[in-house]
Amino acid sequence: MTVATTVTAAPQSVAILGATGSIGVSALDVIARHPRQYRVAGLSAHANIDALRRQCARFQPDLAVMADAAAARRLADELAGAPTRVLGGGDALAELAAAADIVVCGIVGAAGLASTLAAVRAGKKVLIANKEPLVMLGGLILREARNAGATVLPIDSEHNAIFQCVAAAAGPGTGDGGAGPGTGGSAGPGDGGALPGARPAGLARIILTGSGGPFRRLPLGEFRHVTPAQACAHPNWDMGPKVSVDSATMMNKGLELIEACALFAVDESEVDIVVHPQSVVHSLVEFADRSVLAQLGPPDMRVAIAHALGWPQRIASGARRLSLTDCARLDFEPPDHRRFPCIGLARQAARAGGAMPAAMNAANEVAVDAFLRGQLRFDRIAATVESSMARAAAGRDCTLEDALQADAQARRQCRELLRAAPVTVGVADVAVAGAGA
Ligand code: MG
Repeated sequence: MTVATTVTAAPQSVAILGATGSIGVSALDVIARHPRQYRVAGLSAHANIDALRRQCARFQPDLAVMADAAAARRLADELAGAPTRVLGGGDALAELAAAADIVVCGIVGAAGLASTLAAVRAGKKVLIANKEPLVMLGGLILREARNAGATVLPIDSEHNAIFQCVAAAAGPGTGDGGAGPGTGGSAGPGDGGALPGARPAGLARIILTGSGGPFRRLPLGEFRHVTPAQACAHPNWDMGPKVSVDSATMMNKGLELIEACALFAVDESEVDIVVHPQSVVHSLVEFADRSVLAQLGPPDMRVAIAHALGWPQRIASGARRLSLTDCARLDFEPPDHRRFPCIGLARQAARAGGAMPAAMNAANEVAVDAFLRGQLRFDRIAATVESSMARAAAGRDCTLEDALQADAQARRQCRELLRAAPVTVGVADVAVAGAGA
């Protein structure tokens, strides 16, 4: 007779905010590979009833939340008799965030701010994919995480890479606050003594890599003709329309710069941005001794998600293996600021501090949406964002109210600018992208 030696603990419960988006779908794919370790406790979606119903049928969560109340009522009808309770509206997201051991924040844009705050305040293990809340209020989110004993783990691939580099440099269980984001409570074994928002010991510089998007080589004169369909066709990553357009303008890298400053408590001048078209090196960290650590992997979001989900253990992600010989070469070049003026805007916002990053983020969301709807030319996105930032207040401290006020003001200003000077692309191009749905 054999005796089982495997110690089986109860599975950890996971809530996914933004389950039907690309992060949510990738997270569910990883979770499905580890049924004994993880159980889906809750799922949320904005308005995609069909996709959420299919996910509920497969994963049988306790709770499903739809941001849109009418959509929630329809989903409740369709799931009648199923074990899943359906709720609607923003408050229900906070309930969902408080109901699980692990919360995956994958809601795109400033819309994810309240639920991200709810998750850290509930003291959860919080996997943050959406950069906008960290851009708007990174300082506050990390302070609240520390106070509540929450564990913040970045799953934006670059920040996950940086976290892996600083945790590796700190070594296991140093418990001295050596690494970047992580536990707000006592340092457990193998966690690198991580503290959210603390500056990693010995860090000299962060090098953020970005693919440069689809227009890295496009002649400058052709930027005015870029269509939503072209901007959404990213060469390496499969992402939603907002992140794809941000990647094409490289505002994505600008937002990530501000995100890195918040997560690792560094200054804007300590973060370099390098264009790396192959998307194999996800970011690098230079230390005081001039050692540079990098994290490499296939361009697949499941790698970062599996790292954070399993952390401090390693679990399978389902991603293919990286073959260095298939890559053959890795290229690095400085970003062309004439092509990508959004990087300069983000540096400006990071230096200004206060509510400026929130204003920049809000204006960018409105401008990108207008571009996707054919109401703004691609090459006018940066200038529109810049004009909308003019009235935001700079300064060091930014409260939730300050950020929300700056967000609302920048959105208003941006919409006024768009009304005053509409610059459109062809209607046929918009139909191809299926944008605005
Ligand atoms: Mg990223």
